[in-house]
Amino acid sequence: MTQRDSILISGGTVVDPSQGMHARRDVLIEEGRIAAVAEHIATERARRTIDASGLFVCPGFIDLHCHLREPGGSASETIASGSAAAAAGGFTTVFCMPNTNPVCDSPVVVKYILVRSREAASIRVIPVAAVTRDQKGEQLADLGALKAAGAGAFSDDGRPVSNAMVMRRALTYAHMLDMPVFDHAEDLSLTADGVMHEGNISLRLGLKGIPRSSEATIVARDCALSYETGGRLHICHVSNRDSVAAIRHWKARGAPVTAEVSPHHLTLTDEAVCAGEGYRTDAKMKPPLCSEDDRKSLIEALEDGTLDCIATDHAPHSPPSKDALFQDAPFGIIGFESAFAVLYTGFVALGRWTLDFLIDKLTKAPADVLGAEWGTLGTGSPADVTLLKLGEEFVFDLSRVRSLSRNSPWIGKPCSGRVVATLAEGRPVFTDHGAFPAGLFVARSMSKAGA
Ligand SMILES: [Zn+2]
Repeated sequence: MTQRDSILISGGTVVDPSQGMHARRDVLIEEGRIAAVAEHIATERARRTIDASGLFVCPGFIDLHCHLREPGGSASETIASGSAAAAAGGFTTVFCMPNTNPVCDSPVVVKYILVRSREAASIRVIPVAAVTRDQKGEQLADLGALKAAGAGAFSDDGRPVSNAMVMRRALTYAHMLDMPVFDHAEDLSLTADGVMHEGNISLRLGLKGIPRSSEATIVARDCALSYETGGRLHICHVSNRDSVAAIRHWKARGAPVTAEVSPHHLTLTDEAVCAGEGYRTDAKMKPPLCSEDDRKSLIEALEDGTLDCIATDHAPHSPPSKDALFQDAPFGIIGFESAFAVLYTGFVALGRWTLDFLIDKLTKAPADVLGAEWGTLGTGSPADVTLLKLGEEFVFDLSRVRSLSRNSPWIGKPCSGRVVATLAEGRPVFTDHGAFPAGLFVARSMSKAGA
């Protein structure tokens, strides 16, 4: 790690759920770490200053679930473009799923992603390695070697681990390695050729439905396996009320289970499939958007702690591939750049959540799933910092998208809270030039003017 500038973030309101802090504070960064958070820090102590008055200052967001498509999918995303998109969304740590080409099921691919991230990524990228070889669901990958190479978790995301005994063994080994398994819970025999949630809307549109049980039965199965083996299970992208009920049951019994929910499942329903002209492929994802009743139960589950954190499942698909018939389009939407804006606008601005609650679910809560040191502005922590501007209306448009893909259902939507700057280990990695027209740093009359 090279020595970096000292930076003072001055005059902002610090919101740091890890310390229960919501107060007007200055933040001093030295050599990429938080050196001090205090009511007043003299500007002379830092080489450069960011004027954060009127802004909110919080720990960099952590995303436990994204797809960066490298190696093998550079038409949709790369580690460079995906990490830039994440930085624009306020994320400073992201976990990228292994369904690349080749699959991240060997130490070589784990190391490739880590090396490429060091070269090309502006933020911390942690590879999630496959549970099974080539994600085929048959033979376990060499989990010990994958952990040693730098994998942060195991998952066959994109596909389920269909064989229960294979999942049981995976949880047993993961337990010995003290690593979590990230679970894409889906019964492919129930999904069959379904393309959206099975309900009134799929019936009306004549599209094949995916029943709730496709997810909920595997959630229940894997929670039982987690309980039995002691292996830590993290359920990905929980989408419906029946999965919530299973998680609630097994957590109450003491199973070492955590779970995430996505911004789209919290804010949209299957009605989004037919909002506007034609069927919208940017409302097609797995698991599918479900009913309003499901959406409400996800919100309540996040509020009561049944669901632990928010993760985007940023899943880029190149514009030509999504520009297809609904039945033929791939599953997935991008989510980094829109996540905070959509959640702030949908929940905090409307008075349902406090800002502190939302920040917690994007910082401390995902860090707690892993027991990681990120997601805090505590002294000595890596200086991952996100600056927010709240209450000013703007339109979430393509100018905000850094991803190589465009598959977002929120393009053109009015929002009222946004990320305006992101620092990763003290390095500025994103600046909203509308909020900082003269640059991120305050110009000084002295020779050491900011750049
Ligand atoms: Zn998945």
